[in-house]
Amino acid sequence: MSTSLPQHPLSQSLEDLVELFDVRPSAAPMADADRELALAAPRFGTVFTDHMARVTWNATDGWFDRRVEPYGPLQMDPATAVLHYAQEIFEGMKAYRHADGSVWTFRPEANAQRFARSAQRLALPSLSIDDFIAAVAALVRVDAAWVPSGEESSLYLRPFMYASEPFLGVRPSLEAEFLVIASPVGPYFASGVQPVSIWIERDLSRAGAGGTGAAKCGGNYASSLLPQTIAQENGCDQVCFLDAATGTALEELGGMNVFVVKTDGSVETPELTGSILEGVTRSSIIQLLQDAGHEVRERRIPLDELLEGIGDGSVAEIFACGTAAVVTPIGRLAGTSFDQTIADGGAGSVTMSVRGELTDIQYGRAADRHGWLRRLV
Ligand SMILES: *Cc1c(COP(=O)(O)O)cnc(C)c1O
Repeated sequence: MSTSLPQHPLSQSLEDLVELFDVRPSAAPMADADRELALAAPRFGTVFTDHMARVTWNATDGWFDRRVEPYGPLQMDPATAVLHYAQEIFEGMKAYRHADGSVWTFRPEANAQRFARSAQRLALPSLSIDDFIAAVAALVRVDAAWVPSGEESSLYLRPFMYASEPFLGVRPSLEAEFLVIASPVGPYFASGVQPVSIWIERDLSRAGAGGTGAAKCGGNYASSLLPQTIAQENGCDQVCFLDAATGTALEELGGMNVFVVKTDGSVETPELTGSILEGVTRSSIIQLLQDAGHEVRERRIPLDELLEGIGDGSVAEIFACGTAAVVTPIGRLAGTSFDQTIADGGAGSVTMSVRGELTDIQYGRAADRHGWLRRLV
């Protein structure tokens, strides 16, 4: 079965690639005491480090001006293409501090390759795996003091690219900017892992066949916001989408993939049909479950079958996964015509053990037997 995100070696040493980035230090970095305060209780995506990595592209010169510069506002012409036609892609990864102080990231090659696939779908220029990883490394090295060391804390990394040409014509932009920004994050579940409730959306879709569902682009998130609001109005934490064509099979959440654990120990996850985003966490979890002896099937999961399985007890656990929350147990599924608690509604044992295994690897507490970690600092 596929864990179709292979390792991809860099063409040169990371050292040499990072050297290509010109460091222009901030004249006004945050004071040590203020940074320590920000690191003590970070709120997701609210505080950013002193710098950002940046590379500029145009159709004539390709990628140029690799640099790490002070974090700050971008100046944009009101006609900038991204503001009108949403030609934009992004990634989400983390830098983890290990007990010995070193800083590592998890499968950055997979994010770099996915970024390249997203760029292709959104008609943006392709950025090399070398440049993607070097930009991340260059930023984390300059802002290494911002990588928290608390339990399940990390530095969230947000690489992104947007069409920067000021032009209202409808065609791929002839100019683009690639940036990496970073924000310290604490444990996703501040008071222990809590199961979430999921609203199954029947009417609104996130992505359809031939669309941009498999690309990590802002537009997919824009279309998920109204359904997410509806989920909350219905007393649920998050929304899960069904396939747009038939509205009968499970796809994924707005920003997380989904897994179903059967009572017989086998595990299922929706197959990648082109409208689902292939998560790095998803692929890693498939591997870890297989390592632990679970049969993992990537297949079409009809909602009716799932609800029946919850009812007759053959579905033991459901969980969602993604870089930000790692693994989130799902305790309840609700929709217009049903409201079901999964097993006892608590966090399941397979869910929690795969979560533990993954975070143990990421934080250097367990052997990195698949070679998933890359040292940054
Ligand atoms: C980013 C994302 C995921 C999770 O991907 P990871 O690589 O595991 O973080 C899942 N679904 C969607 C729609 C996403 O954008």
